[in-house]
Parts: sequence; structure tokens; C-alpha cells
Amino acid sequence: MYLSVVIPVYNESKNLRPLFSRLTATLDELNKSYEIIFTNDGSHDDSEIILEELYNLRPEQVRIIDFSSNFGQHMAVMAGFELSQGDIVVTLDADLQNPPEEIPKLLELADKGHDLVSGIRLHERKDNWFRRNISILVNKVRAMITNINMTDHGCMLRAYHRSIIDLMVSHNESSIFIPALAYSYAVNPAEVKVEHEVRATGKSKYRLYDLIRLNFDLMTGYSLVPLQIFTLIGFSIAFLSIAFVIFLFIRRLIVGPEVQGVFTLFAILFFLVGVVLMGLGIMGEYIGRIYKEVQHRPRFAIKKVLGAKLDEKNINPRH
Ligand code: UDP
Ligand code: MG
Repeated sequence: MYLSVVIPVYNESKNLRPLFSRLTATLDELNKSYEIIFTNDGSHDDSEIILEELYNLRPEQVRIIDFSSNFGQHMAVMAGFELSQGDIVVTLDADLQNPPEEIPKLLELADKGHDLVSGIRLHERKDNWFRRNISILVNKVRAMITNINMTDHGCMLRAYHRSIIDLMVSHNESSIFIPALAYSYAVNPAEVKVEHEVRATGKSKYRLYDLIRLNFDLMTGYSLVPLQIFTLIGFSIAFLSIAFVIFLFIRRLIVGPEVQGVFTLFAILFFLVGVVLMGLGIMGEYIGRIYKEVQHRPRFAIKKVLGAKLDEKNINPRH
């Protein structure tokens, strides 16, 4: 099989039919064998029913994975990867923000041997001002802290070669961010500008809090730099304190006892307490990750699969 398209779905009932018709129209033109894998990530609307309807339209090309509850976008994509058979796998969002008509652009580069082709939506990005600028800022910080140099990590319109998919599937980490993981395995990554549209219907599933969490995950999942920066801050403050103590000691000898400066003292104290709490938080992030991994819980639980027998391919959740 040439191509698998993997699409995570969470409460997207209104978008699924238009997405499917645009997607199949684009893929049919390629004249190559393909499959479309939808993962229903525990939707509460009637996405499940509509997906079944789409499956019945083209049972030989559509596969559906039904999660027992919501495990998040990246786990949904991961389950799709485990089932996928294509030499090239393309991911895209179900909300029509990634126009399916752009897929051939990615495939062209993938065919030239790029094992990871990432869409970048910096131009024409149709999110609100706040969202756009936060995203640019976060991209910069991430590029500084990790050695992941993607222009736009949030764009899910991407193509991956089988070699990268196999590596990602063999992983059993549970808090992963697929574009970053893929990038860390890519030998010959490429980027291409893609259109970006306003979400067709429904609301974004990511609130500000989720975005903050995601980025903590990114930074602590791919780098120890936050911990090291923290150690450096600790050292610097310790040295400054020694200088300060010496200064106070000499001053005591020259000027004599003093009791002023209580507020300065408080300011310094609050600052230091803040630094310590921040450090604890950063350590906590890493410990939390370790905790999650040692639990060895299944990454996701599958209720049913349409279009592939469970024993045909091992898609049982690994730990
Ligand atoms: N999604 C999912 N599980 C979730 C949240 C989102 O499968 O828990 C899917 C969602 O249906 C969509 C894609 O992931 O296809 C991207 O989500 P969304 O559009 O809400 O994110 P944004 O574009 O705002 O970053
Ligand atoms: Mg979206």
C-alpha cells in the first residue's frame, strides 16, 4: 500500500462528511492505493455514527478505531500509526484546518526521499492574534531548549515514511508529542508551506491550559536543559550571596550594627522562595514523567475496530 492517512476525531461530527469527500477526491486523483484511518477519540457527539457511515461508503479503504474514552489527539494518531500499512503515512486534523488538497504537495517531497515532510502554516495562519503569537513564542523557546528545529510544531499536516512510523510505534512512552518524536528520528526532514483555514465548525479542543501542558511536555520530554538552567541559577545565586555576606560583614565592621532594610530583605527572600518553588516545579515535571512511565499503563484502550481484524495486525495497546 502506498499511502495511509491518519485522522484523529474528537467531537467533529459536522466536519467529517465534507472532510471525507474532499479527501477522497484528492486521493483518488493520485491513482495509488491508499487507506484512511480515523480514530474516534471517545467523542460525545455522533462522530461514531458518521464514521461508520463513511466506512460503509468505502469499506475497503476506510478503517475506524474506536477508543473507549478520550486519550488525546496524539494517542489517537499513534493508534492509527499502529494499524497503518502505507509506505507513507500522512496525518491531518479532522476540523478542516488542514486542507486535504495540500496532501499531494507533501507526497511529492516524500517521494523524493524526505522521510519527514512537515507543513508550516506561518503564512496565512488563521488563528486569532493571541493564539498565533503564543505559538510563535513557544516555537522559539522550544527551539532554544531542545534541539528540535521545526518551524511550526503545531501543524499536524505531515507526511512520514514507514521507517519513522515503525520507530515511533515501537516506543511505548505515553506522553508523547508526535511531530517532535518524528523529528528526532528523521534523517532527511523537509518543510513545505501549506494553507491553513479557520476551523470549519465546532470549537478548538485545546484551551490555554492544555497548550501550557503540552509545551511543558515538549520541553521536559526532549531535553534536560530546564534542569541544567535551574542548577546554573542556583549556583549564581549562591555566589552572589557569598559576595553579599562579605559585603555585609565589612559594612558591619565599618558602620556598626544596622536594622534598616527589612523590606529589601523581604524582597530578596520572596525572590529566592520563588526561584526555589520554580525549581521544585521543574523537578516535579520530570518526576511526573518518570511516574507515568513506570506505571506501565496501556497508552489507550480500544473499544472496536472497523475494517481490520484485531488479530490481523497487532494493534493491542502495548504498555
Ligand atoms: N483531537 C482528538 N482528541 C482530543 C483533542 C483533539 O482526537 O482530545 C483531534 C481533533 O478532533 C482534531 C485534532 O485533534 O482533529 C486537532 O484538534 P483541535 O482542532 O481542537 O486543535 P487546534 O487546531 O485548535 O490546535
Ligand atoms: Mg484545529
